[in-house]
Amino acid sequence: MLTFPSLEDALKHYFGYDTFRPGQKKIIEAALQNKDLLTIMPTGGGKSLCFQLPALLRQGITIVVSPLIALMQDQVDALQDNGINATYLNSTLQYEERRDRQIAILKNQVKLLYVAPERLLNERFGLFLDRVQQDVGISAIAIDEAHCVSEWGHDFRPEYSRLKQIRQRYPRIPLQALTATATKRVRKDIVQQLNLRSPDVHVASFDRSNIHYEVEPKDRNIYRKLLRAIKTESGAGIVYCLSRNRVDEVATRLKRDGIGALPYHAGLSDQERSRNQTSFLRDDVQVIVATVAFGMGINKPDVRFVFHYDLPRSLESFYQESGRAGRDGEDSKSILFFSLGDYGKVKFLINQKPDPSERKIALQQLSQVIDYAEGNDCRRKIILGYFGERYPGNCGKCDNCLNPKLIEDWTEEAQKFLSCVARCQEKFGTNHIVDVLVGSRKQKIHQYGHHLLSTYGIGKGRTADEWKMLGRSLVHQGLVGQTTDGYPTLKLNKRSWEVFRGQLKVEVAIDKSPGKTTATYNPRKAEAELLFEKLRKLRKQIADHNSLAPYMIFADSSLKLMAQLRPKNITEFANLSGVNEYKAQQYGDRFISTILEFNEQHKLPVSLPSKSQMATLQLHQQGLSIKEIAAQRGFAVSTISNHLSELMEMNQPVALNKLVIADKQQEIIKAIEQFGDLSLKTIRDALGENYSYSEISLVRGWWRSQKQQS
Ligand code: ADP
Ligand code: ZN
Repeated sequence: MLTFPSLEDALKHYFGYDTFRPGQKKIIEAALQNKDLLTIMPTGGGKSLCFQLPALLRQGITIVVSPLIALMQDQVDALQDNGINATYLNSTLQYEERRDRQIAILKNQVKLLYVAPERLLNERFGLFLDRVQQDVGISAIAIDEAHCVSEWGHDFRPEYSRLKQIRQRYPRIPLQALTATATKRVRKDIVQQLNLRSPDVHVASFDRSNIHYEVEPKDRNIYRKLLRAIKTESGAGIVYCLSRNRVDEVATRLKRDGIGALPYHAGLSDQERSRNQTSFLRDDVQVIVATVAFGMGINKPDVRFVFHYDLPRSLESFYQESGRAGRDGEDSKSILFFSLGDYGKVKFLINQKPDPSERKIALQQLSQVIDYAEGNDCRRKIILGYFGERYPGNCGKCDNCLNPKLIEDWTEEAQKFLSCVARCQEKFGTNHIVDVLVGSRKQKIHQYGHHLLSTYGIGKGRTADEWKMLGRSLVHQGLVGQTTDGYPTLKLNKRSWEVFRGQLKVEVAIDKSPGKTTATYNPRKAEAELLFEKLRKLRKQIADHNSLAPYMIFADSSLKLMAQLRPKNITEFANLSGVNEYKAQQYGDRFISTILEFNEQHKLPVSLPSKSQMATLQLHQQGLSIKEIAAQRGFAVSTISNHLSELMEMNQPVALNKLVIADKQQEIIKAIEQFGDLSLKTIRDALGENYSYSEISLVRGWWRSQKQQS
């Protein structure tokens, strides 16, 4: 067994990555201390590595319990393509094959063994495992998709609930449970059912920082809009529709318009479904058009976009579905196409449900989707708010952040609204409160005597829509509570009282629909994209030749690095994140010669980022703030901020909006244009204390990159 000076070195050696994703290192350290673990991370957070790396660094073999045969094969293929000894045992194998694998295991040649839960618990396999434990040693048992043990989860599997027998049989082997579903109830169940021993619990943020959220109005030209949106994407994507008919219709039209697209829904034969899925995994087609039946069992990390052509059922399902984009951490897009007409249709369908409590829940879930679609606040804030996570500031990446609406002070309105909630005894939802405020004559108002309240009609100065917008915003900002057990009732909380007392100012974002910001043409970036496309083609050829999915050869992020840094030899190539020595040897030559050939035809960009700058860029792209990057890398904040401004000057993709708020950007640009870009101090003196050197230098980096192009 190899030993390494640091965990980072081991990470680079086995997986080729330079840095850990948030949370991974802590979890791996705990695993290496043989602790029981419960890891909760969103899709794409990088859960697998949390048991794979420890498995490679310990004596013996790690058993991985995984519910789906397809996923098992997928992970094993990817590990083997990294030169790692992993294997699986399941019912698809012939007797001989199974025997060979068992022999290899007993000879201590395998570090990770994947099995389905029912196999783990069968008598005969139990005897085999006993021998493994005796001869080789079992270093840990990892239980993937651990929420399957809970009847409260959405994916209960009876075989999983028998897994506690494992703990009884091997009380000393550490257990590591992993899942992406995060309700507290399910979490508790996992600990109990699996009998975890005072486990280290790691809950990662549910923010998917690389996903850009957008909502597009859906009108008669919706199909054209969809087509245009797909045409601007070069990577793979999923289009979700509500019905099978719609799936077939959209897939056919896309095909006719020259997009490689295939349908996927429960009405197709098993064979056709699995064929279409494979075509998608291997990038033979760009788009899969699907009902929500698609996606549970697939693990394609380089899905670049997920578009919702129809309204999702709940915000939770929207989050899970859109979350199938960008598991590899690269920038990806989610667009929800939304119309009030759809809303009416879905509401009508829900109202047909006979069971009143089911109806109540469905309506509430629908209203959360509407809150998201019609909300003016940062979309990320809205989504995370529903998972009980408060997102500080704005994300700078969603449509609402990029095309911000006017911010107005609505404290007085908020006080009226909240006082109306109080007068209605905190027993009603937003719609009713708004009806009271605008002095509606609805029967319900009279029935409760609310036309007699002092707040009746005090909001006539604004429209009902404006009041509803305020109500939504108060909920998103946590300035009023909303029950989640059926009918959404507004409840005052501590912060509501602060608003009453005038201790909290309430600001809301008003949509005045300014023109959309358009991306500027950037020749150097265009060149990198051209090379990226060439490398993608090469990757596809190699993948086809080896019957693998392209992402298993190299992740998109590694291809991007190749295009940005253009390594000239194997050493430089092996240095790239995502490339380990094994892969450099397997594929390096072919990629390097494509790059060199490209260099011949195009001249090299003037300056390329250093390795350290690239490491900063990667963490920035993962959504870490400047402070967080500095802490993680052990550098001064000013160094990181310099990296980012230099990266911008080199036309690397830094999200300035995430670093400096839009208003300040404009002021700084004005000052630069007035005083020149040479002296930060002059600019700072002109702008005053409110502007930090770091903010000024960041905006200057961006400004210079724009200058170079003009
Ligand atoms: P999850 O199971 O949490 O959905 P995975 O374990 O499948 O996520 O990881 C998602 C993707 O992220 C995979 O393509 C994986 O190779 C990649 N990944 C994991 N850890 C890292 C890392 N430290 N740096 C870069 N990529 C990573
Ligand atoms: Zn945002």
